Amino acid sequence: MPPTEVCVTYPDWLPEAVDWERRYAGDDERMRLAVALSRENVLRGTGGPFGAAVFERASGTLVAAGVNSVVRLGNCTLHGEMVALMMAQRRVGSYTLGGPGMPEHELVSSCDPCAMCLGATLWSGVKRLVCGAHRDDASRLSFEEGPVFPESYEYLAARGVEIVRGVLRAEAREVLELYRSGGGPIYNG
Ligand SMILES: [Zn+2]
Repeated sequence: MPPTEVCVTYPDWLPEAVDWERRYAGDDERMRLAVALSRENVLRGTGGPFGAAVFERASGTLVAAGVNSVVRLGNCTLHGEMVALMMAQRRVGSYTLGGPGMPEHELVSSCDPCAMCLGATLWSGVKRLVCGAHRDDASRLSFEEGPVFPESYEYLAARGVEIVRGVLRAEAREVLELYRSGGGPIYNG
């Protein structure tokens, strides 16, 4: 019999490493969490140097976190953003984070999303995307970001997703360098 389910989990350290009660005010605080998650993922050896989180936009309530889990779970789709979006949708109990009566949600990612994650951002129902490191920073490590073009961002913006890039870029990039200096695997390069 083939498998009948796919299980997506946080690494063991993550639930305890995050302050779930805190209100994260503003882009810098929210990005600091995404970058901290990316760094912890590298230091603990649980995946690639990418972290993400979903917040309620107005209140700064943390809904879900995500770290790259591709190698840990043997699944090429489990980028940090994907894990955060999946966990957020599981938490709110819906396939969309933009349903009627819901607070607006935003996705904060330690790096510019790849083609897959940018697509998922659109389908997820988040109203805002905040990015740290630039795709050039990731491609220096030979991580492939796929077919993402300036028009891709314009496409999301035209559909009501506000996009902010380069928040705490230097801090986010440091984690990429940390990963590279540690000889971590480039799983899609
Ligand atoms: Zn991605």
